[in-house]
Amino acid sequence: MAENNVENESLDFIREMVAADIASNKYGNRIVTRFPPEPNGYLHIGHAKAICLDFGIAAENNGVCHLRFDDTNPTKEDTEYEESIKNDVRWLGFDFGEHIYYASDYFEKMYDCAVELIKRGKAYVCDLSPEEWDEYRGNLTTPGKESPGRQRSVEENLDLFTRMRNGEFEDGKLVLRAKIDMNSPNINMRDPVIYRIRRVHHFRHGDKWCIYPMYDFAHPLEDAFEHITHSLCTLEFEIHRPLYDWVLDSLDFKFPDRPQQTEFSRLNLTYTVMSKRKLLQLVKENYVSDWDDPRMPTLCGMRRRGIPASAIRRMCKMVGITKFDGVTDVAVLEYCVREELNASAPRYLAVLDPLKVTITNYPEEGVEPLDAVNNPEDPAAGSRKIPFGRELYIERADFMEEPPKGYFRLSPGKEVRLRYGYFIKCEEVVKDDNGNVVELKCTFDPTTRGGNAPDGRKVKGTIHWVAADSAVEAEVRLYDRLFTVEQPGTDGADFLTQLNPDSLKVVTGYLEPELAKLSAGTSVQFERIGYFVVDPDTAPGKMVFNRTVTLKDSWGNKQNKK
Ligand code: ATP
Ligand code: MG
Repeated sequence: MAENNVENESLDFIREMVAADIASNKYGNRIVTRFPPEPNGYLHIGHAKAICLDFGIAAENNGVCHLRFDDTNPTKEDTEYEESIKNDVRWLGFDFGEHIYYASDYFEKMYDCAVELIKRGKAYVCDLSPEEWDEYRGNLTTPGKESPGRQRSVEENLDLFTRMRNGEFEDGKLVLRAKIDMNSPNINMRDPVIYRIRRVHHFRHGDKWCIYPMYDFAHPLEDAFEHITHSLCTLEFEIHRPLYDWVLDSLDFKFPDRPQQTEFSRLNLTYTVMSKRKLLQLVKENYVSDWDDPRMPTLCGMRRRGIPASAIRRMCKMVGITKFDGVTDVAVLEYCVREELNASAPRYLAVLDPLKVTITNYPEEGVEPLDAVNNPEDPAAGSRKIPFGRELYIERADFMEEPPKGYFRLSPGKEVRLRYGYFIKCEEVVKDDNGNVVELKCTFDPTTRGGNAPDGRKVKGTIHWVAADSAVEAEVRLYDRLFTVEQPGTDGADFLTQLNPDSLKVVTGYLEPELAKLSAGTSVQFERIGYFVVDPDTAPGKMVFNRTVTLKDSWGNKQNKK
């Protein structure tokens, strides 16, 4: 992928580190990264940042990136999510080849590591009650207290841990803890739990296990078992890194065969929620139609919205990799979407809020094919014919009975250019009994075919149109931002009260006939309106389009006008 070619560009701090590790031969010429989603939800644009980094670094350095399902927590996981995750990673343009792994496949090896820690006197079985736990842990200012279990012999610990595995104790009765330091200022290092008893069905291993490893113990081992070199994660894990290192050190994992954890800042976007819990709530409580609702920040939602994978990669690259948490303006994503679609999406004429125009001096039954360019940004896209006729639709907003100064579109007695067509002049305004404009009677100048007057006469406005006879009706879903505030759910607000009531408007559009030939997933520009994509709900005789983005950032304009 061309945009992943980082030559001649400054490297972010992680890529610099990787380059230095290659130069010093720290890993014996290997670069292995991993993307470790928990299969408990659909991937979102935040994950895309991690995917672009993990897979990007591997690709740039002839390395490999593993797709690892981090399924050590049996309660929340589901196969439903697995396929969607694989699909989304591929859609984003990355290849994991045969490198698909499941953390739960290492349960036996992890168990062995726990046994090894016990043998080395570095782990013990603890039987504090939940009430005692609070008292023993201490807090940020008070050191913790040592559990009596700390004094157990290796033999007793081995016996208890075996019996934990064999199901002799009820859930929560005993835990296995790492023996580190109850005085550590880092609470993660105060003898953290590394195994707990939980009789829950695992979606891949059934009831084989009743003890499960904790994330902080499991993750460094997963990385080590897979010979990962660079384990990249988000900043909230920085404070867990000493434990990551402790686990690997205590089990004698050494370079070049030991992974190194490095943290970077998460992606946050304005007008967006990214927490899986909140996204789940939006789906389950029907605030959106499903995970792939085009307003969702999920990758499947964005795909359905018509956002190209290349635009997401482009945005991730623009945002870059840093150590500082921040919130990225969603306008950056929208900019990238426009940039990508501007180059690739063919242009068509469509009218979404029709006003009938009759060309009174045009022949009654006349239909005339006019030449239209498919994409001025892409000569290879070619041209097509669009039918012209006596009755047309134009956009209601392109006519004003009493135009303000500087309005160059249609108004009584004024002339305007029809895109790819002729100059027309508004001769008469037809109204219904309520005074609403229902039709314009216009005349056309036959000498202006193609958009120029031989007499050199100029018009300032060019408007789009479709011929009424041949227009194809379509359901057009006008999507907008899902929330009305930049950071939903912050400052004590309930994010559900900040939903944008206008995030979806459905209208009937009138399209040039060519558009009816397109299949689901095809992106187009409706000239002067925006970028749209054919929705999978499209069926024979029923076209459905989703608005991806408007042509300009109207939110920015709204904001400026305030
Ligand atoms: P949770 O832990 O709440 O279930 P998560 O967002 O951490 O959610 P994971 O499936 O564990 O979900 O994430 C997989 C990978 O994606 C992790 O390495 C995580 O750091 C990364 N990731 C998740 N959200 C973001 C984000 N907003 N920006 C960058 N990376 C992210
Ligand atoms: Mg996580």
